[in-house]
Amino acid sequence: MEKINFNLDNKIALITGASRGIGEAIAITLADYGAHCILVSRKVDALEDVVTKIASRGGKADVMACHVGDLKQIEGLFAKIKERHGMLDILINNAATNPYFGEMLGADEGIWNKTFDVNLKGPFFMIQQAARLMETGGGGAIVNVSSINGVKPALLQGVYSITKAAIISMTQAFAKELAGKKIRVNALLPGLVATNFSKAIIDNEAIHDIAVKMIPLNRHAQPREIAGVVLYLVSDAASFTTGASFVVDGGALA
Ligand code: NAP
Repeated sequence: MEKINFNLDNKIALITGASRGIGEAIAITLADYGAHCILVSRKVDALEDVVTKIASRGGKADVMACHVGDLKQIEGLFAKIKERHGMLDILINNAATNPYFGEMLGADEGIWNKTFDVNLKGPFFMIQQAARLMETGGGGAIVNVSSINGVKPALLQGVYSITKAAIISMTQAFAKELAGKKIRVNALLPGLVATNFSKAIIDNEAIHDIAVKMIPLNRHAQPREIAGVVLYLVSDAASFTTGASFVVDGGALA
């Protein structure tokens, strides 16, 4: 048996929401294993800091600004990728938003549209664009970052949870459609991770205590603990893995 290969040399990887948190950890990890990472978020300055970190570890990355809820910006992003790199091997649909904590009965159309545009419409059209480019290169790997909220909606996070459930269905649907083009599509379902996104939970001792009581490992995760499974999913080690959901939650769903 050949040695299992996690090497990503000569691969081009696009990571959305790469300026901090889980996306940053994924980008650093994929670059550590040889991928050239295209780092995407709305603010370029924060992305440049991640490029510096990656370069200091001997990795390669460049930055492109894009609001993933805006289809024109997605088209512009892929035009730039084609011009600069001419190919794409890996897409990590990681950027998301959660603008509303509250009962669904109080959610207005603006909240619905913002959450669905960034969390679902954007990833869908990113995959459409990415798949066309990956097909010309003979295949690729896509990871969509969902959440454990996608299978077990969190209280007061209903609208967000619905988008994360839809991401799982979208992953399965694209996995079937793109298998013939040698493009694998999987979903990642993190539990509670210490990032800007979860700050309201982690910084509030009372809420954090309640959240941690539901996690058998009795703590929240750091972003780097989420990145390893993504490395697996985009590497040759996962060559028979598509349409699947990977839970990294300290046992919360068990
Ligand atoms: P984070 O630390 O807040 O980072 C979010 C990233 O997304 C930033 O780089 C942000 O940069 C970017 N972003 C936000 N809106 C964007 C937009 N419209 N267009 C492009 N980029 C955008 O969040 P995180 O916790 O790492 O979350 C990453 C993913 O993990 C999300 O899909 C989230 O739903 C999921 N998740 C997180 C947790 C958790 O506990 N943290 C748990 C389960 C799932 P800019 O602001 O510069 O655009």
